[in-house]
Amino acid sequence: MIDLRSDTITLPTGAMRKAIFEAEMGDDVYGEDPTVNSLQELAAEIMGKEASLLVPSGTMGNQVAILTHCKPGTEVIMEADSHIYYYEAAAASVFAGVQPRPLEGKRGSMPAELVEWAIRQDDIHLPPTSLICLENTHNRAGGTVVPIEDMRAVHEVAARHELPVHLDGARIFNASVASGVPVKDYTACVTSVQFCLSKGLGAPVGSILAGPADFIEEARRWRKRLGGGMRQAGVFAAAGIVALKTMVERLAEDHNNARLLAEGLSSLRGIDFNPEDVDTNIVIVKPTTMSVGQIGSELEKRGILTVVMEPDRIRFATNKEVNRRDIEKTIEVVKEILGE
Ligand SMILES: *Cc1c(COP(=O)(O)O)cnc(C)c1O
Repeated sequence: MIDLRSDTITLPTGAMRKAIFEAEMGDDVYGEDPTVNSLQELAAEIMGKEASLLVPSGTMGNQVAILTHCKPGTEVIMEADSHIYYYEAAAASVFAGVQPRPLEGKRGSMPAELVEWAIRQDDIHLPPTSLICLENTHNRAGGTVVPIEDMRAVHEVAARHELPVHLDGARIFNASVASGVPVKDYTACVTSVQFCLSKGLGAPVGSILAGPADFIEEARRWRKRLGGGMRQAGVFAAAGIVALKTMVERLAEDHNNARLLAEGLSSLRGIDFNPEDVDTNIVIVKPTTMSVGQIGSELEKRGILTVVMEPDRIRFATNKEVNRRDIEKTIEVVKEILGE
């Protein structure tokens, strides 16, 4: 099998399994798990924030952030194709009672002028704007890096309107490795940030929410309310520490493989795609001569797994479980399926 569905399919490394085996543990709901505490300190340091909180998933990290920043009946500005809007089962409406205000971005980036235009005036007819959410890299836009200048421009607008900004940085390390911009430069533009340990970094479970100390204290209460207070969570936090210390630079290999795949696929007549659009580890292409459902199932029959994004796009996500050879094979198989 060549599994290109997602970077979430990555398995813990030998070093992670060893760290898990040897991890010191305690009850984290009492704040007594030393491995969780070390991970949270390390993550806060790397993010350039006062504190951080380990959460079970990226979705919970984003939702805890929204619950902590926002009152019910307010409005949250977010990109129309963002994970928070598209893939979190309307959790922000269900739990936080907020109204999403989706804005269309370009390659995942919302222009700062558009964001400023969407901020509500003080008027009893209108829901007050309470938060701006950004996503970097942007998944549905194709793993695109939102440029640091764009983030600074939104930050400037938010500061002028005294609004917090939350970054869904599930793949912020991919953005940093691809662009050469330090992670701290991105996070300096936002109040809070969520990132995933369990994607390209290869840890089995977990995300981090980082931000100001008082924000993280309140976030801890929201995590508890959602049932996300975990006991001997050091069992997987140990792998998270290994992920942060040893797995970040390796993301460049995923990016190189994605570029190789993009170039191979774009040379096919039945695929309409510019390989220059690939910034990181996600390749989303539009086939023109065959339906995506058909291509997806033909690939699966030949042991290659992808994600069909109906109606007309198919996603390949490179990850540490696939190598260059697998990518070359994938290009060959797609070529064969398209009859080229
Ligand atoms: C994967 C992902 C999440 C959610 O992470 P889970 O751990 O799957 O809940 C959030 N945002 C983005 C951009 C993602 O790609």
